[in-house]
Amino acid sequence: MFDRASVVTPGGVNSPVRAFRAVGGTPRFMVSGIGPYLTDADGREYVDLVCSWGPMILGHSHPEVIAAVQEAVSRGTSFGTPGEGEVALAEEIVARIEPVEQVRLVSSGTEATMSAIRLARGFTGRSKVVKFAGCYHGHVDALLAAAGSGLATFGLPDTPGVTGATARDTVVLPYNDLDAVRAAFAAHPGEIACVITEASPGNMGVVPPVDGFNAGLKELCAADGALYISDEVMTGFRTSKAGWYGVDGVSPDLMTFGKVMGGGFPAAAFGGRADVMAHLAPAGPVYQAGTLSGNPVATAAGLAQLRLLDDAAYAKIDAVSAELRSLVGDAFTKEGVAHTVSSASNMFSVFFTDEPVRNYDDAKKQEAFRFTAFFHSMLEQGVYLPPSAFESWFVSTAHDERAVERIAAALPAAARAASEATA
Ligand code: PLP
Repeated sequence: MFDRASVVTPGGVNSPVRAFRAVGGTPRFMVSGIGPYLTDADGREYVDLVCSWGPMILGHSHPEVIAAVQEAVSRGTSFGTPGEGEVALAEEIVARIEPVEQVRLVSSGTEATMSAIRLARGFTGRSKVVKFAGCYHGHVDALLAAAGSGLATFGLPDTPGVTGATARDTVVLPYNDLDAVRAAFAAHPGEIACVITEASPGNMGVVPPVDGFNAGLKELCAADGALYISDEVMTGFRTSKAGWYGVDGVSPDLMTFGKVMGGGFPAAAFGGRADVMAHLAPAGPVYQAGTLSGNPVATAAGLAQLRLLDDAAYAKIDAVSAELRSLVGDAFTKEGVAHTVSSASNMFSVFFTDEPVRNYDDAKKQEAFRFTAFFHSMLEQGVYLPPSAFESWFVSTAHDERAVERIAAALPAAARAASEATA
């Protein structure tokens, strides 16, 4: 299948990190998913610790999500008109996340961050955007400077195709460094439209904000008249009922969402202060639109998923995550592998270093070659990890004792492989 794909698709994939280039080998083509398991085209079953990169927080094929999708599909798949499903989904988001007074639905996280930045520029009348090295906000031209995720995997500091003019308005700073943000505002007074940050980064591996970092960003933005945009595409509705906002309580001016809110379908959103959102067309002058925005099938899936995500669901995900973190840490300790299991709520990843990791430069100092050996051993034993040392691992409410036991059984040999790996 990969050979076939490579003929008709660049690199054989529709999103770079799926190609396994960071770890080598042939990507697995999945044909079905049930609960915490994926089955590939050769009939092999894996415990899934990627969960479609975050969205499948209830596991695969959750019966109530599937039923909602089937019911929606039976009424038609797209109308290009307003519909009740998108209103209900927007109401659910607004009810969960206090700083979001109004929300606009889009189809991908990239669209959400791109539109939020356009809105911030339109609202403030300013050009510059501050972002942090290692934070990934989708493949928005202006934000593909020192981004994480696939770009971290490939070690590309930037990408051809983004013009100097676009990149010139992007100021890239080290993560977790408020002094650098202060200096940027001092150097560009009245020119910065917004600071965009992952609410808690998961695209350079999991690197949570240090105490006071997000609050400091908000304060510095407010003092200068810039907007503070919290990208919750990954953390939203995952790290708590109200995402990372539910963890640190810092109110952004604008927020972006994706992944979990789509229930496995292309649905994403940006929202925030009503006075800022009022600048968006047709209410205001900042243009933004989408043929499939608020699609009835995607909104039905997202709404069904969010309605199932109650306190008990988050308690379960948090507990599974804690159990896995401890099993993973113990396995590496036993083999004498220098490591840090880094977590933010129930998101976590492993850095192959015992030095603290507070930013992208720290993350890149790890012995990533050990991850390659670890990854392939886990894969051979039927555990599907993100194919890069710079990605978060994701669990779901469907990861039960049996799934955890299968991971636990695979860990000793995989940790040994990591310890024996050479650069
Ligand atoms: N923002 C963050 C924090 C993300 O993790 C991602 C995707 O991984 C995006 C934005 C882009 O979302 P999408 O891949 O849906 O365009």
